[in-house]
Amino acid sequence: MTTYKISKDKMNELLTSIKGYDVYVPTEMGDKFQFRVMKDAGDAKLGYSQSAKPPKDVIFPQNEVLMNYKIQPNGFDVENSLDHIGKFVIFGIRNCDARALKYLDTQMLNGKYVDPYYAKRRENTTVVGLACNSPLYNCFCRSVGAGPHHKEGHDVHLTELDDGYLVEVITDKGKELLANSMSLLAGSSDADTSKQAELKQACEAKFVRKIDVKGNDKRMLDIFESDYWRDVSDGCIGCGICTLLCPTCFCFDIQDIGSRKEGQRVRVWDSCQYPEYTMHASSHNPRPGKKERQRQRFFHKYVYSYKNNQMLGCVGCGRCINQCPTQIDIIDVIEGVKNVKEGSE
Ligand code: SF4
Ligand code: SF4
Repeated sequence: MTTYKISKDKMNELLTSIKGYDVYVPTEMGDKFQFRVMKDAGDAKLGYSQSAKPPKDVIFPQNEVLMNYKIQPNGFDVENSLDHIGKFVIFGIRNCDARALKYLDTQMLNGKYVDPYYAKRRENTTVVGLACNSPLYNCFCRSVGAGPHHKEGHDVHLTELDDGYLVEVITDKGKELLANSMSLLAGSSDADTSKQAELKQACEAKFVRKIDVKGNDKRMLDIFESDYWRDVSDGCIGCGICTLLCPTCFCFDIQDIGSRKEGQRVRVWDSCQYPEYTMHASSHNPRPGKKERQRQRFFHKYVYSYKNNQMLGCVGCGRCINQCPTQIDIIDVIEGVKNVKEGSE
């Protein structure tokens, strides 16, 4: 890893010097932030808190054309969209969202089955992280194996200091990205590194909420049939926001759009909170109600993911808490498990 520093007034120049990529930056939309392709360096709001939607859609788009097809008299033509995937930069991603990409890797690139569309986008994406100096009230990344200054999954890591950004180049991809920008970077000093450590400590002290996950998976399995899950899901309206805005959720559906002669095969996000998601052709539904569907959300993230990949399926971003219209709070739900008696109705 090589460490540099850039003054704040040169950051726009650095962004402009990146060529050959679609550069996704946090932009302002009303009172929210959203990652979008940069048109002008002034679009980038690096002082943002958290984007309403995580930038996972750069790698796992909400709607992705997998192929175009055309029926011919003696067969059919297929044009695979894999050949048209470009190169991307996610510039200014927070640690929790970068860690979520590592989690998605465990699902989409797990060795038994590699999703070729995800794999190509992932390979073509350079991740520039931005340390968090001020968590939101519902952030709890520190409880789930991460932290506001973690560099996991970053190719370049930035830390905002008073007079500039510390720029840590971590991987060869990061080096390649900044190859045209070296004249904008200066050496960093021991004082800069000390300031970074000070900011990290100060940020960690600001966290308000936390989950104690130790032994939780066993406790949850013990109360799988409990009415606790009916009670916690009682207010749920099945809107799916908690999953659609979650940086680690990856449920999808595949649909053909077009005529009998030609069309597109498209992958679209789906949600385990929708009854149709698990509906069988026979009309039997193994998760028929809110209880079963919400229980699945919590179990997938806090039991099954850990069992299968030794990584929780939650990075503690707090979005599902902030955005749930009926205030279902994953911290309260997981913490509440401790107080449920085994086999209780
Ligand atoms: S956001 Fe809230 S109301 Fe909507 S599906 Fe999730 S838990 Fe239910
Ligand atoms: S479950 Fe909630 S807190 Fe955890 S990563 Fe998803 S949106 Fe964030």
